[in-house]
Amino acid sequence: MTIQWFPGHMAKARRQVTEKLSLIDVVIELADARVPAASRNPMIDEIISNKPRLLLLNKADLADPRITQQWLAHYEKQGVMAIAIDAASGQGLKAIISSCEILVKEKFDKMRSKGIKPRAIRALIVGIPNVGKSTLINKLARKNIAKTGDRPGVTQAQQWIKVGKEIELLDTPGILWPKFEDQLVGLRLATTGAIKDSIINLQEVMIYAIKYLREFYPNVLKDRYDMNEEVLFSEEVVDIFDHIGKKRGLLMSGGMIDYDKTSDLFLRELRAGKLGRLTFENPSMLEVTDEILEES
Ligand code: GDP
Repeated sequence: MTIQWFPGHMAKARRQVTEKLSLIDVVIELADARVPAASRNPMIDEIISNKPRLLLLNKADLADPRITQQWLAHYEKQGVMAIAIDAASGQGLKAIISSCEILVKEKFDKMRSKGIKPRAIRALIVGIPNVGKSTLINKLARKNIAKTGDRPGVTQAQQWIKVGKEIELLDTPGILWPKFEDQLVGLRLATTGAIKDSIINLQEVMIYAIKYLREFYPNVLKDRYDMNEEVLFSEEVVDIFDHIGKKRGLLMSGGMIDYDKTSDLFLRELRAGKLGRLTFENPSMLEVTDEILEES
């Protein structure tokens, strides 16, 4: 479920994460590997302050593996510990435990030197809606403890979920908001399906996605929709809508192409990975993609 954020919601979400920080040793922050920057909270560094943090690029199964490597190298350079995972299938989950152990080593060594008995590492999962928090908690717990979907406003007693002997997770993740006042961030999130379709203009999202794809992944459109170069690089993006709509028989009465249905189908296919593994921003291309949008 996507939450519509208001200043009151943001303050509350922030407070809920801040309150839990004193209970935990490490923050596990989830981002979407297809949009690693757009899917992060703009105030995350300030919110988690100096708590050790592990950044997970989730849904790596849907992202371009080459670009995921670039992002991981980028974070390594920044001194942020990051790994790519696929919470749905469980790919990469073992590395979460070993990374958390590295992050808390200093603290736990100190505790041990003071004679405090070793205990499990306590962790909190945070991230924007739909990034995969519940899926990850369920997968780590190996049974359906966490409820899928977000339930703002429901207060519950703190519950810990054991992940092997090494980690204890707070059962309710911290839900944070993206930087949605930025138009490009909104389009990237909408392209990957993080923003509820009823509050966005699907045709606008499809135009953005098409311009991005023909710049960075032109073969994807050609192959999936059997498109020739003339249509693909037409100055009128509507030619691409017409081509896809016609190909899929998405017509209104009178034979006109139904652009709403076309964008709905196109985005559903893209989000489900049917066009291949795609990433919509990368560390060195961010300015380039900004230019593409400005030219439109
Ligand atoms: P939350 O709002 O952050 O708790 O997100 P959910 O756990 O409810 O996940 C949102 C959607 O993303 C669900 O449809 C999940 O099945 C899907 N999802 C979560 N993780 C992955 C992943 O690693 N790969 C893929 N392909 N889908 C995922």
